[in-house]
Amino acid sequence: MHNLKPVVMKFGGTSVEDARAFARVADIVASQKYLRPVVVVSAMSGMTDALLASVCQARAGSPQSAATTLAPQFARHVDVAMTLRANEQKEVLRAIEAARQEIAQLLNKVAEEPNKRAALADAVLSFGEGLSSMLLAAMLNRRGLSSQQVDARDCIVTDGEHGCATPLFEETYQRSQETLGPLVNSAIVPVLGGFVGAGPGGETTTLGRGGSDYTAALLGAALRAGEIQIWTDVTGVLTADPRVVPGAQTIPRLSYAEAAELAYFGAKVLHPKTIQPAVEDNIPVRICNSRALDHAGTLVGAESETTAHTVKAIAHKTGVTTVQISSARMLGAYGFLRALFEVFDRHRTIVDVVTTSEVSVSLSLDDAGALPAIVAELSQLGTVRVERDRAIICVVGEGLRGTPGIAARVFSTISDINVTLISQGASSINLTFAIEEARVKEAVTRLHEEFFEVDQVEELCKDPLPSSNKRMSAFGMQGITDQ
Ligand code: ADP
Ligand code: ASP
Ligand code: MG
Repeated sequence: MHNLKPVVMKFGGTSVEDARAFARVADIVASQKYLRPVVVVSAMSGMTDALLASVCQARAGSPQSAATTLAPQFARHVDVAMTLRANEQKEVLRAIEAARQEIAQLLNKVAEEPNKRAALADAVLSFGEGLSSMLLAAMLNRRGLSSQQVDARDCIVTDGEHGCATPLFEETYQRSQETLGPLVNSAIVPVLGGFVGAGPGGETTTLGRGGSDYTAALLGAALRAGEIQIWTDVTGVLTADPRVVPGAQTIPRLSYAEAAELAYFGAKVLHPKTIQPAVEDNIPVRICNSRALDHAGTLVGAESETTAHTVKAIAHKTGVTTVQISSARMLGAYGFLRALFEVFDRHRTIVDVVTTSEVSVSLSLDDAGALPAIVAELSQLGTVRVERDRAIICVVGEGLRGTPGIAARVFSTISDINVTLISQGASSINLTFAIEEARVKEAVTRLHEEFFEVDQVEELCKDPLPSSNKRMSAFGMQGITDQ
């Protein structure tokens, strides 16, 4: 039995939003107890946002009222605790109260010590995952599973950068094996908060918003898991963001490369770095819905699969800034691109998409915080043009580069929308471009219609009596059966 690889199960905030959701999660873990689960959990939904807002309020000089704003959040945790047995309940309630007091003290320090704000913010945020993992471990014990809360800081070792720490892989893998191995081998289910780690000196750091997926992937790689499961509020990775395209459909299989591109270009369902640790050990990543257990969700693995339509999904992200640098000096000169990218390097700013012509380079940035300083330096290299409020759309599918006509179809579908930057070919699986943010919903909706809905309507017309009702519901429209 000990040869069996463990399974890492990660539950997002919406999977632990209230007592009922916690109970559901406990049932899901129990149903896989023979697979030696290691559980990672996010803060209860809304908790990280609330903690972050309290830090901002404390920073603005009102630490006491900042602490008061968190009262409803603590009440939600207490509600969950009330479903525990009396002895566990007492201990958990005490821990919630202790957390409340510690957070209040930290918020006071945020107001007093401006130079330590980033470190203090991480310390405050870590309570979200700390409390949810404590509650979930208690819920699992209540459910009859032997379970133990484990402090993620004993496993995830980072470089200490506050707000978006980078994990140190070797140390993380070693610590995770040492900490979690004995528990798993003793049939105890470890429950860790995601998102949180410890820097070289043990200080609390966080992995960036949505980072619990990354924690799960790191633990999966550390323990050579049989599978990493990401349990969330949607049934797998969908053909588009369901908040924009309500009729988006589950993609049954994705390659690692496809999933990584989608996550990077805005499919929030996976943190952009989730895939990287899984790829190294070829660990399958499954994305499933904690409220729809009978749906298989999406399986991400090494194998690629070219679908009939080649395009598998459309991701998008907003809040993008594009920068164009034009200079005749670039023509036939070497060293120009190095000088240009060194500017972004110096300002620790990540460049997403890059395209070049003979005399200009266009690129896109997610984080424009350092833009004024960047533009000042770039101006020494050439003429700089900045466009804010852009969005990036990324059309993804294995085999896309080798399939004629895709780009033509994409751009003719949105021919009335101005495209300011196009990149295809850097990877064989995506076509990425920037448009103005105000039109992104319209563009994604039209592209989804073109690549996923029109084709299927045509198929249905060929086969007017389809056997699967699923195909119907995928359209999100009634009455198509009447045709
Ligand atoms: P969790 O709290 O479980 O981590 P997230 O909110 O981080 O959940 O991610 C799930 C959300 O991602 C979905 O509710 C959905 O709105 C959004 N999303 C964006 N693009 C996609 C996509 N292509 N497929 C699935 N979900 C997506
Ligand atoms: N709780 C953190 C966030 O909301 C991490 C996560 O949920 O993955 O960003
Ligand atoms: Mg998430």
